[in-house]
Amino acid sequence: MGTIVITGSAGGIGQATRERLSRDGHEVIGVDIRDAEVIADLSTPEGRTEMIGAVAAASGGRIDGLVAGAGIAGPDPKQVVSVNYFGAVATLEGLRPLLVQGTDASAVAVSSNSSTTLVALPEALVEACLNDDEAHARELADADPGTVYATSKLALARWVRRTAIGADWIGSGVRLNAVAPGLIDTPLVADSIDMIMSLGDVYPIPIGRPGRAAEVANLLAFLLSPDASLFCGSAVFMDGGSDAALNADAWPAANTTADHWPMQQ
Ligand code: NAD
Repeated sequence: MGTIVITGSAGGIGQATRERLSRDGHEVIGVDIRDAEVIADLSTPEGRTEMIGAVAAASGGRIDGLVAGAGIAGPDPKQVVSVNYFGAVATLEGLRPLLVQGTDASAVAVSSNSSTTLVALPEALVEACLNDDEAHARELADADPGTVYATSKLALARWVRRTAIGADWIGSGVRLNAVAPGLIDTPLVADSIDMIMSLGDVYPIPIGRPGRAAEVANLLAFLLSPDASLFCGSAVFMDGGSDAALNADAWPAANTTADHWPMQQ
């Protein structure tokens, strides 16, 4: 049993994850702008720094798991990229030293299947995020508000895949992965769930229903557990088939980073 930090702990997925992990015997330290052990605004550099100090104090300087789950879909596109990407990355990087002190430590970022189911996401915004240029990312977000949510989640998944394999993470014994849920019935989408369910071929949901927060919590609990000890740098989609329906042949795809593999010479 360990100590696990959840950001966005007061939200639909956060609450369900807290319940599941508490049931499993873990101590949970919730982080949110409301109703949490640590109240912090992850949209600002000051809020992120305060959060890291408060979690270090609350945990005694050691945690075993982390879910970077705080996220928003609107209304201000600048806030969306600041919370969903820069807040999440600052949380993961800022709490990494506490994870290094933990046992079988594991962190999970909550991305979204909007990262692959929407079209024409602006690569410039992805690059601004991955270049850690928050001011530029906020400008780009303002200029193209319609795609910001999905683009922030694409950048987050890409950051996880690039970063998880490095010395700071798996080289220090800490597993880092992402989950990419599809439509999940939570307050985040309460106003748009009927509209999304009626999109048909534009956004098919083969399973025929929205997901439940508890289903995401189950996947998060698994990825945090020693049962997931070989997971490193994965972006795990769980969306009732939407990504498969739209992108069946896009992934897995062959390696494009080398001309050939030695055995293929
Ligand atoms: P939610 O709105 O119920 O929960 C989000 C939580 O994040 C809230 O408790 C909110 O107070 C907190 N939060 C927002 N801004 C914050 C800030 N500046 N600082 C700290 N906390 C902040 O939504 P949810 O559906 O539970 O979403 C959880 C995560 O799952 C989000 O990252 C969301 O993007 C992602 N997600 C949700 C869906 C879905 O369909 N619901 C699908 C894919 C991914």
